[in-house]
Amino acid sequence: MNKTFIFDYDDTLAWCEHDYCYAIIDFLKFTIDKLGHKAPDVQSIMELEMGLNKQGVLKHGFKGDVFPASCRDAYRIICERAGVEDKQGEEEAYNIGMRAFDEKRYRERGLVEGAAETLEFLVSQRDELILLTKGDREIQQKKIEATGLWRYFRVDAINIVEKKNADTIRDVIAGRDKSRVWHVGNSIRSDVNPALEAGINVIYIPCETWAYEREHNGVPDDSRITTFSSITGIKENYHLL
Ligand SMILES: [Mg+2]
Repeated sequence: MNKTFIFDYDDTLAWCEHDYCYAIIDFLKFTIDKLGHKAPDVQSIMELEMGLNKQGVLKHGFKGDVFPASCRDAYRIICERAGVEDKQGEEEAYNIGMRAFDEKRYRERGLVEGAAETLEFLVSQRDELILLTKGDREIQQKKIEATGLWRYFRVDAINIVEKKNADTIRDVIAGRDKSRVWHVGNSIRSDVNPALEAGINVIYIPCETWAYEREHNGVPDDSRITTFSSITGIKENYHLL
């Protein structure tokens, strides 16, 4: 009997976390270059930006301009504290934040190692593939096109949602036998817990991630969870699923 696999995108099928890290490093350098001895220490700049980004996500959800806005607002606050006014600098800080969403980088880096062969294998098994990714519609769409991921999924099986929770997963699996559905993802908070709550199985592929995704109580003790160190584990252990 065929299986259904619901795939997460960011840091499951394509690396994304460190796109933000490079933009943060650029932002730190920019702030120090601009303000010199008036700039706070690196840790304070970083904590300010990261705090604003987290607040923005909690307030507005995973929208594309939350991260660049956190760079702009952090720069503005730092300037205010230093008694400096630099409107043009605020705009530059915003644009540095936008570097996290670089289509050229998406294309050049492509998918996670082993992702293409895993998806091809599942297609050859005639399993059903669904994509369920949270984030900004336009940005996620750009990623899916740039990495060529679209070719493995039917158009109506690509779901870009603002928030991933048990309800969004239930919507996607409507009517299917839950024991034959697996959600594949890298996050306990955004993938594992909502999938278990929705009553389906989980393939958990842990990786380094940001503070938001690190807020959880560890891997739940649940026999429906299978943990693999790499996405290729799905193909290698397919007969066990
Ligand atoms: Mg993810």
